[in-house]
Amino acid sequence: MTHHARDLIAIETRLGAHNYKPLDVVIERGAGVWVWDVEGRRYLDCLSAYSAVNQGHCHPKIREAMIAQSEKLTLTSRAFRNDQLPLFYEEIAALTGAHTVLPMNSGAEAVESAVKAVRKWGYEVKGVPAGQAEIVVARENFHGRTLGIVGFSTDPDARGGFGPFAPGFVAVPFGDAAALEAAIGPNTVAVMLEPIQGEAGVVIPPDGYFRRVRDLCTAHGVTLVLDEIQTGLGRTGKLLAEEHEGIEADVTLVGKALSGGFYPVSAVLSNSEVLGVLKPGQHGSTFGGNPLACAIARAALKVLVEEGMIENSAAMGARMKAGLEAIRSNLVREVRGRGLMLAVELHPEVGGARRVCEALRERGVLAKDTHEHTIRLAPPLVITSEEVDMAVDVMGEALRAVA
Ligand SMILES: *Cc1c(COP(=O)(O)O)cnc(C)c1O
Repeated sequence: MTHHARDLIAIETRLGAHNYKPLDVVIERGAGVWVWDVEGRRYLDCLSAYSAVNQGHCHPKIREAMIAQSEKLTLTSRAFRNDQLPLFYEEIAALTGAHTVLPMNSGAEAVESAVKAVRKWGYEVKGVPAGQAEIVVARENFHGRTLGIVGFSTDPDARGGFGPFAPGFVAVPFGDAAALEAAIGPNTVAVMLEPIQGEAGVVIPPDGYFRRVRDLCTAHGVTLVLDEIQTGLGRTGKLLAEEHEGIEADVTLVGKALSGGFYPVSAVLSNSEVLGVLKPGQHGSTFGGNPLACAIARAALKVLVEEGMIENSAAMGARMKAGLEAIRSNLVREVRGRGLMLAVELHPEVGGARRVCEALRERGVLAKDTHEHTIRLAPPLVITSEEVDMAVDVMGEALRAVA
Protein backbone atom coordinates (compact mmCIF):
# COMPACT_ATOMS: atom_id res chain seq x y z
CA MET A 1 0.00 0.00 0.00
CA THR A 2 1.35 3.45 -0.92
CA HIS A 3 1.86 6.33 1.48
CA HIS A 4 -1.17 8.04 0.04
CA ALA A 5 -3.53 5.18 0.87
CA ARG A 6 -1.97 4.75 4.33
CA ASP A 7 -2.29 8.49 5.01
CA LEU A 8 -5.96 8.51 4.06
CA ILE A 9 -6.65 5.52 6.31
CA ALA A 10 -4.77 7.22 9.15
CA ILE A 11 -6.87 10.39 8.82
CA GLU A 12 -10.05 8.36 8.80
CA THR A 13 -8.95 6.42 11.86
CA ARG A 14 -8.02 9.63 13.70
CA LEU A 15 -11.03 11.79 12.87
CA GLY A 16 -13.90 9.49 11.98
CA ALA A 17 -16.30 7.89 14.41
CA HIS A 18 -15.44 4.21 14.50
CA ASN A 19 -18.90 2.86 13.77
CA TYR A 20 -17.59 0.95 10.73
CA LYS A 21 -14.64 -1.36 10.24
CA PRO A 22 -14.07 -1.17 6.48
CA LEU A 23 -11.71 -3.34 4.50
CA ASP A 24 -8.50 -1.37 3.93
CA VAL A 25 -9.14 -0.53 0.30
CA VAL A 26 -9.44 3.16 -0.57
CA ILE A 27 -11.66 3.50 -3.62
CA GLU A 28 -11.48 6.56 -5.83
CA ARG A 29 -13.34 5.59 -9.00
CA GLY A 30 -16.06 3.25 -10.21
CA ALA A 31 -17.64 2.23 -13.53
CA GLY A 32 -20.19 -0.56 -13.91
CA VAL A 33 -19.16 -3.54 -11.79
CA TRP A 34 -15.60 -2.26 -11.35
CA VAL A 35 -13.99 0.06 -8.82
CA TRP A 36 -10.39 1.32 -8.65
CA ASP A 37 -8.40 2.15 -5.53
CA VAL A 38 -6.06 5.14 -5.15
CA GLU A 39 -3.19 2.97 -6.38
CA GLY A 40 -5.02 2.14 -9.59
CA ARG A 41 -5.81 -1.47 -8.66
CA ARG A 42 -9.08 -2.70 -10.08
CA TYR A 43 -11.66 -4.71 -8.13
CA LEU A 44 -14.93 -6.41 -9.01
CA ASP A 45 -17.49 -4.95 -6.60
CA CYS A 46 -19.58 -7.77 -5.17
CA LEU A 47 -21.39 -5.63 -2.61
CA SER A 48 -22.84 -2.79 -4.72
CA ALA A 49 -23.01 -0.54 -1.64
CA TYR A 50 -25.50 -2.95 -0.06
CA SER A 51 -27.51 -3.05 -3.31
CA ALA A 52 -27.68 0.72 -3.81
CA VAL A 53 -25.70 0.55 -7.06
CA ASN A 54 -27.71 -2.19 -8.78
CA GLN A 55 -27.37 -0.20 -12.03
CA GLY A 56 -23.56 -0.23 -11.76
CA HIS A 57 -21.22 2.51 -10.59
CA CYS A 58 -21.67 5.95 -12.16
CA HIS A 59 -24.19 4.80 -14.75
CA PRO A 60 -23.79 7.37 -17.56
CA LYS A 61 -27.53 7.94 -18.10
CA ILE A 62 -28.24 8.50 -14.42
CA ARG A 63 -25.21 10.80 -14.24
CA GLU A 64 -26.48 12.78 -17.23
CA ALA A 65 -29.89 13.19 -15.60
CA MET A 66 -28.26 14.31 -12.36
CA ILE A 67 -26.02 16.87 -14.05
CA ALA A 68 -28.82 18.25 -16.25
CA GLN A 69 -31.22 18.61 -13.33
CA SER A 70 -28.56 20.12 -11.05
CA GLU A 71 -28.10 22.90 -13.60
CA LYS A 72 -31.82 23.73 -13.53
CA LEU A 73 -33.27 23.22 -10.07
CA THR A 74 -32.34 21.12 -7.04
CA LEU A 75 -34.64 21.93 -4.15
CA THR A 76 -37.88 23.80 -3.66
CA SER A 77 -39.12 22.04 -0.52
CA ARG A 78 -42.67 20.71 -0.64
CA ALA A 79 -43.97 24.18 0.24
CA PHE A 80 -44.10 24.61 -3.54
CA ARG A 81 -44.57 22.13 -6.37
CA ASN A 82 -41.79 21.10 -8.74
CA ASP A 83 -42.02 19.72 -12.26
CA GLN A 84 -40.16 16.44 -11.58
CA LEU A 85 -42.14 14.99 -8.67
CA PRO A 86 -45.36 14.29 -10.64
CA LEU A 87 -43.38 12.48 -13.34
CA PHE A 88 -41.56 10.43 -10.70
CA TYR A 89 -44.95 9.51 -9.19
CA GLU A 90 -46.35 8.54 -12.56
CA GLU A 91 -43.37 6.42 -13.58
CA ILE A 92 -42.89 4.54 -10.30
CA ALA A 93 -46.64 3.94 -10.03
CA ALA A 94 -46.78 2.56 -13.59
CA LEU A 95 -43.83 0.29 -12.88
CA THR A 96 -44.89 -1.06 -9.48
CA GLY A 97 -48.68 -0.73 -9.53
CA ALA A 98 -48.63 1.58 -6.50
CA HIS A 99 -51.69 3.79 -6.03
CA THR A 100 -50.08 6.30 -3.70
CA VAL A 101 -46.42 7.24 -3.28
CA LEU A 102 -44.63 9.04 -0.44
CA PRO A 103 -41.10 10.19 -1.36
CA MET A 104 -38.41 10.27 1.33
CA ASN A 105 -34.59 10.14 1.37
CA SER A 106 -32.91 7.34 3.31
CA GLY A 107 -34.31 3.86 3.67
CA ALA A 108 -34.71 4.32 7.41
CA GLU A 109 -36.95 7.32 6.77
CA ALA A 110 -39.17 5.25 4.50
CA VAL A 111 -39.46 2.66 7.29
CA GLU A 112 -40.23 5.33 9.91
CA SER A 113 -42.80 6.88 7.59
CA ALA A 114 -44.51 3.52 7.10
CA VAL A 115 -44.59 2.91 10.86
CA LYS A 116 -46.21 6.30 11.40
CA ALA A 117 -48.74 5.74 8.61
CA VAL A 118 -49.82 2.24 9.69
CA ARG A 119 -50.22 3.36 13.30
CA LYS A 120 -52.40 6.31 12.27
CA TRP A 121 -54.34 4.05 9.93
CA GLY A 122 -54.84 1.66 12.84
CA TYR A 123 -56.37 4.35 15.02
CA GLU A 124 -58.43 6.13 12.38
CA VAL A 125 -59.56 3.29 10.14
CA LYS A 126 -59.22 0.03 12.07
CA GLY A 127 -60.40 1.55 15.35
CA VAL A 128 -57.50 0.52 17.59
CA PRO A 129 -57.70 2.25 21.03
CA ALA A 130 -55.38 5.29 21.33
CA GLY A 131 -51.75 4.40 22.05
CA GLN A 132 -52.31 0.63 21.70
CA ALA A 133 -51.18 -0.06 18.12
CA GLU A 134 -48.91 -3.05 17.66
CA ILE A 135 -46.66 -3.96 14.75
CA VAL A 136 -45.36 -7.51 14.30
CA VAL A 137 -41.79 -7.75 13.01
CA ALA A 138 -39.33 -10.61 12.52
CA ARG A 139 -36.45 -11.55 14.75
CA GLU A 140 -33.04 -10.76 13.13
CA ASN A 141 -34.71 -8.00 11.12
CA PHE A 142 -32.79 -5.11 9.64
CA HIS A 143 -34.77 -1.99 8.78
CA GLY A 144 -32.24 0.79 9.45
CA ARG A 145 -30.58 2.68 12.25
CA THR A 146 -32.91 5.33 13.65
CA LEU A 147 -33.93 5.16 17.28
CA GLY A 148 -37.43 4.03 16.36
CA ILE A 149 -36.12 1.22 14.19
CA VAL A 150 -33.32 -0.12 16.41
CA GLY A 151 -35.90 -0.29 19.18
CA PHE A 152 -37.50 -3.28 17.44
CA SER A 153 -34.22 -4.86 16.30
CA THR A 154 -33.17 -8.07 18.06
CA ASP A 155 -29.47 -7.50 17.30
CA PRO A 156 -27.62 -6.59 20.54
CA ASP A 157 -25.10 -4.47 18.58
CA ALA A 158 -27.84 -2.48 16.87
CA ARG A 159 -29.82 -1.71 20.04
CA GLY A 160 -27.43 -2.08 22.97
CA GLY A 161 -26.97 1.15 24.91
CA PHE A 162 -29.46 3.17 22.88
CA GLY A 163 -32.64 2.76 24.92
CA PRO A 164 -35.20 3.55 26.14
CA PHE A 165 -37.19 2.50 23.12
CA ALA A 166 -40.72 3.04 21.89
CA PRO A 167 -43.18 0.25 22.71
CA GLY A 168 -45.62 -1.31 20.24
CA PHE A 169 -43.50 -3.93 18.48
CA VAL A 170 -43.60 -7.72 18.76
CA ALA A 171 -40.81 -9.82 17.23
CA VAL A 172 -41.45 -13.39 16.02
CA PRO A 173 -39.12 -15.90 14.30
CA PHE A 174 -38.78 -15.23 10.56
CA GLY A 175 -40.34 -17.92 8.41
CA ASP A 176 -42.66 -19.26 11.13
CA ALA A 177 -46.24 -18.51 10.07
CA ALA A 178 -47.76 -20.10 13.19
CA ALA A 179 -45.71 -17.82 15.46
CA LEU A 180 -46.79 -14.85 13.38
CA GLU A 181 -50.44 -15.86 13.61
CA ALA A 182 -50.16 -16.22 17.38
CA ALA A 183 -48.67 -12.71 17.63
CA ILE A 184 -51.53 -11.04 15.78
CA GLY A 185 -54.09 -9.52 18.16
CA PRO A 186 -56.96 -7.05 17.92
CA ASN A 187 -54.54 -4.10 18.12
CA THR A 188 -52.17 -5.34 15.44
CA VAL A 189 -52.04 -2.71 12.72
CA ALA A 190 -49.24 -4.16 10.59
CA VAL A 191 -46.83 -6.97 9.92
CA MET A 192 -43.52 -5.66 8.61
CA LEU A 193 -40.99 -8.02 7.02
CA GLU A 194 -38.09 -8.20 4.61
CA PRO A 195 -38.90 -10.68 1.78
CA ILE A 196 -35.37 -12.06 2.24
CA GLN A 197 -33.49 -11.02 5.35
CA GLY A 198 -30.38 -9.36 3.91
CA GLU A 199 -28.30 -8.21 6.86
CA ALA A 200 -29.19 -11.38 8.76
CA GLY A 201 -27.21 -13.27 6.09
CA VAL A 202 -29.54 -13.64 3.06
CA VAL A 203 -32.14 -15.71 4.89
CA ILE A 204 -34.86 -17.07 2.58
CA PRO A 205 -38.10 -18.15 4.30
CA PRO A 206 -39.75 -21.53 3.58
CA ASP A 207 -41.92 -21.87 0.48
CA GLY A 208 -45.45 -20.74 1.10
CA TYR A 209 -44.57 -18.62 4.14
CA PHE A 210 -45.43 -15.33 2.49
CA ARG A 211 -48.69 -16.62 0.99
CA ARG A 212 -49.71 -17.63 4.51
CA VAL A 213 -48.59 -14.24 5.89
CA ARG A 214 -50.61 -12.49 3.17
CA ASP A 215 -53.70 -14.54 4.01
CA LEU A 216 -53.33 -13.90 7.75
CA CYS A 217 -52.99 -10.16 7.20
CA THR A 218 -56.05 -10.10 4.97
CA ALA A 219 -58.10 -12.24 7.37
CA HIS A 220 -57.22 -10.08 10.41
CA GLY A 221 -57.39 -6.66 8.74
CA VAL A 222 -53.66 -6.09 9.20
CA THR A 223 -51.48 -4.09 6.79
CA LEU A 224 -48.67 -6.10 5.22
CA VAL A 225 -45.56 -3.93 4.89
CA LEU A 226 -42.67 -5.37 2.90
CA ASP A 227 -39.30 -3.70 3.25
CA GLU A 228 -37.84 -4.13 -0.24
CA ILE A 229 -35.13 -1.52 0.27
CA GLN A 230 -32.50 -4.19 -0.33
CA THR A 231 -34.43 -6.94 -2.17
CA GLY A 232 -36.27 -4.60 -4.53
CA LEU A 233 -35.47 -3.09 -7.91
CA GLY A 234 -34.11 -6.19 -9.59
CA ARG A 235 -31.77 -7.50 -6.92
CA THR A 236 -33.46 -10.92 -6.66
CA GLY A 237 -34.16 -11.29 -10.38
CA LYS A 238 -37.63 -9.70 -10.22
CA LEU A 239 -38.55 -6.03 -9.94
CA LEU A 240 -39.80 -6.76 -6.41
CA ALA A 241 -38.99 -9.91 -4.42
CA GLU A 242 -42.69 -10.29 -3.52
CA GLU A 243 -43.21 -11.52 -7.10
CA HIS A 244 -41.34 -14.73 -6.25
CA GLU A 245 -43.96 -15.38 -3.58
CA GLY A 246 -46.98 -14.59 -5.75
CA ILE A 247 -48.28 -11.97 -3.31
CA GLU A 248 -48.81 -8.23 -3.14
CA ALA A 249 -47.97 -6.19 -0.07
CA ASP A 250 -50.22 -3.34 1.04
CA VAL A 251 -47.20 -1.13 1.60
CA THR A 252 -43.82 -1.59 -0.11
CA LEU A 253 -40.67 0.26 0.87
CA VAL A 254 -37.97 0.99 -1.69
CA GLY A 255 -34.71 2.91 -1.41
CA LYS A 256 -31.07 2.16 -2.10
CA ALA A 257 -31.07 1.39 -5.88
CA LEU A 258 -33.96 3.81 -6.42
CA SER A 259 -31.20 6.33 -7.15
CA GLY A 260 -28.61 3.92 -8.58
CA GLY A 261 -26.31 5.05 -5.79
CA PHE A 262 -26.13 8.71 -6.76
CA TYR A 263 -28.13 10.19 -3.98
CA PRO A 264 -30.36 9.01 -1.12
CA VAL A 265 -33.88 8.47 -2.47
CA SER A 266 -36.52 6.25 -0.88
CA ALA A 267 -40.26 5.87 -1.16
CA VAL A 268 -43.25 4.35 0.55
CA LEU A 269 -45.50 2.71 -2.06
CA SER A 270 -49.02 1.95 -1.04
CA ASN A 271 -51.77 -0.17 -2.50
CA SER A 272 -54.21 0.53 0.24
CA GLU A 273 -55.79 3.41 2.06
CA VAL A 274 -52.86 3.56 4.49
CA LEU A 275 -51.06 6.62 3.11
CA GLY A 276 -54.39 8.42 2.86
CA VAL A 277 -54.37 9.05 6.62
CA LEU A 278 -51.45 11.49 6.32
CA LYS A 279 -52.95 14.96 6.00
CA PRO A 280 -51.13 18.27 5.34
CA GLY A 281 -48.70 19.08 8.12
CA GLN A 282 -48.73 15.58 9.64
CA HIS A 283 -45.58 14.25 7.98
CA GLY A 284 -42.82 15.67 5.81
CA SER A 285 -39.20 16.06 4.83
CA THR A 286 -37.27 19.07 3.55
CA PHE A 287 -35.48 17.04 0.90
CA GLY A 288 -38.11 14.35 0.23
CA GLY A 289 -39.44 14.58 -3.33
CA ASN A 290 -36.95 17.23 -4.41
CA PRO A 291 -36.49 17.68 -8.16
CA LEU A 292 -32.89 16.48 -8.20
CA ALA A 293 -33.82 13.26 -6.37
CA CYS A 294 -36.81 12.75 -8.66
CA ALA A 295 -34.80 13.26 -11.86
CA ILE A 296 -32.16 10.80 -10.62
CA ALA A 297 -34.73 8.21 -9.54
CA ARG A 298 -36.59 8.49 -12.86
CA ALA A 299 -33.36 7.76 -14.74
CA ALA A 300 -32.41 4.96 -12.31
CA LEU A 301 -35.75 3.19 -12.86
CA LYS A 302 -35.61 3.74 -16.61
CA VAL A 303 -32.19 2.14 -17.13
CA LEU A 304 -33.08 -0.73 -14.79
CA VAL A 305 -35.95 -1.69 -17.09
CA GLU A 306 -34.71 -0.57 -20.51
CA GLU A 307 -31.30 -2.18 -20.18
CA GLY A 308 -32.70 -5.53 -19.07
CA MET A 309 -30.99 -5.47 -15.69
CA ILE A 310 -33.76 -7.39 -13.93
CA GLU A 311 -33.58 -10.28 -16.41
CA ASN A 312 -29.78 -10.17 -16.24
CA SER A 313 -29.97 -10.42 -12.46
CA ALA A 314 -32.02 -13.62 -12.76
CA ALA A 315 -29.72 -15.17 -15.36
CA MET A 316 -26.39 -14.10 -13.84
CA GLY A 317 -27.62 -14.95 -10.33
CA ALA A 318 -28.40 -18.50 -11.44
CA ARG A 319 -24.99 -18.75 -13.10
CA MET A 320 -23.17 -17.44 -10.05
CA LYS A 321 -25.08 -19.70 -7.65
CA ALA A 322 -24.34 -22.78 -9.80
CA GLY A 323 -20.68 -21.74 -10.04
CA LEU A 324 -20.36 -21.26 -6.28
CA GLU A 325 -22.05 -24.59 -5.60
CA ALA A 326 -19.62 -26.30 -7.98
CA ILE A 327 -16.61 -25.10 -5.92
CA ARG A 328 -17.39 -27.88 -3.43
CA SER A 329 -15.00 -26.63 -0.79
CA ASN A 330 -15.31 -28.39 2.54
CA LEU A 331 -15.19 -24.93 4.16
CA VAL A 332 -18.59 -24.10 2.68
CA ARG A 333 -21.70 -25.03 4.58
CA GLU A 334 -24.25 -23.64 2.15
CA VAL A 335 -24.71 -21.44 -0.89
CA ARG A 336 -28.07 -19.69 -1.01
CA GLY A 337 -29.79 -16.76 -2.61
CA ARG A 338 -32.10 -15.51 -5.30
CA GLY A 339 -31.05 -13.58 -8.37
CA LEU A 340 -27.88 -11.65 -7.56
CA MET A 341 -28.56 -11.64 -3.82
CA LEU A 342 -26.30 -14.51 -2.82
CA ALA A 343 -24.52 -15.76 0.25
CA VAL A 344 -21.81 -18.31 0.93
CA GLU A 345 -22.06 -19.58 4.47
CA LEU A 346 -18.88 -21.06 5.91
CA HIS A 347 -18.45 -23.64 8.63
CA PRO A 348 -17.62 -21.97 11.95
CA GLU A 349 -14.22 -23.75 12.05
CA VAL A 350 -13.03 -21.54 9.16
CA GLY A 351 -12.67 -18.74 11.70
CA GLY A 352 -14.94 -16.16 10.16
CA ALA A 353 -15.92 -14.83 6.76
CA ARG A 354 -13.77 -11.74 7.18
CA ARG A 355 -10.64 -13.80 6.44
CA VAL A 356 -12.12 -14.94 3.15
CA CYS A 357 -13.16 -11.35 2.29
CA GLU A 358 -9.54 -10.24 2.86
CA ALA A 359 -8.34 -13.06 0.60
CA LEU A 360 -10.91 -12.04 -2.03
CA ARG A 361 -9.75 -8.44 -1.87
CA GLU A 362 -6.12 -9.47 -2.41
CA ARG A 363 -7.34 -11.22 -5.58
CA GLY A 364 -9.41 -8.32 -6.89
CA VAL A 365 -12.93 -9.03 -5.61
CA LEU A 366 -14.67 -6.95 -2.95
CA ALA A 367 -17.27 -8.67 -0.79
CA LYS A 368 -18.60 -8.18 2.71
CA ASP A 369 -18.87 -10.60 5.56
CA THR A 370 -22.10 -10.55 7.50
CA HIS A 371 -23.00 -12.28 10.74
CA GLU A 372 -19.51 -13.66 11.14
CA HIS A 373 -19.66 -16.78 8.96
CA THR A 374 -21.45 -15.54 5.86
CA ILE A 375 -20.04 -13.84 2.76
CA ARG A 376 -22.64 -11.81 0.94
CA LEU A 377 -22.27 -11.59 -2.85
CA ALA A 378 -24.38 -8.93 -4.55
CA PRO A 379 -22.62 -7.45 -7.58
CA PRO A 380 -24.22 -4.74 -9.74
CA LEU A 381 -26.94 -6.19 -11.98
CA VAL A 382 -24.98 -5.27 -15.12
CA ILE A 383 -22.45 -8.04 -14.48
CA THR A 384 -21.56 -10.23 -17.49
CA SER A 385 -21.09 -14.01 -17.57
CA GLU A 386 -17.28 -13.59 -17.89
CA GLU A 387 -17.27 -11.41 -14.78
CA VAL A 388 -19.45 -13.88 -12.89
CA ASP A 389 -17.04 -16.67 -13.80
CA MET A 390 -14.10 -14.56 -12.68
CA ALA A 391 -15.76 -13.88 -9.30
CA VAL A 392 -16.48 -17.61 -8.88
CA ASP A 393 -12.88 -18.55 -9.77
CA VAL A 394 -11.53 -16.01 -7.30
CA MET A 395 -13.86 -17.33 -4.60
CA GLY A 396 -12.44 -20.82 -5.20
CA GLU A 397 -8.89 -19.49 -4.92
CA ALA A 398 -9.66 -17.48 -1.78
CA LEU A 399 -11.22 -20.51 -0.09
CA ARG A 400 -8.17 -22.62 -0.96
CA ALA A 401 -5.88 -19.85 0.35
CA VAL A 402 -7.48 -19.72 3.80
CA ALA A 403 -7.98 -23.50 4.12
C1 LIG B 1 -30.33 -0.62 4.01
C2 LIG B 1 -31.66 -1.02 4.51
C3 LIG B 1 -32.48 -0.11 5.21
C4 LIG B 1 -32.03 1.26 5.63
O1 LIG B 1 -31.68 2.08 4.56
P1 LIG B 1 -30.75 3.37 4.85
O2 LIG B 1 -30.77 4.10 3.52
O3 LIG B 1 -29.40 2.87 5.22
O4 LIG B 1 -31.40 4.14 5.93
C5 LIG B 1 -33.74 -0.55 5.58
N1 LIG B 1 -34.16 -1.78 5.28
C6 LIG B 1 -33.41 -2.68 4.62
C7 LIG B 1 -33.96 -4.03 4.32
C8 LIG B 1 -32.13 -2.33 4.22
O5 LIG B 1 -31.36 -3.23 3.61
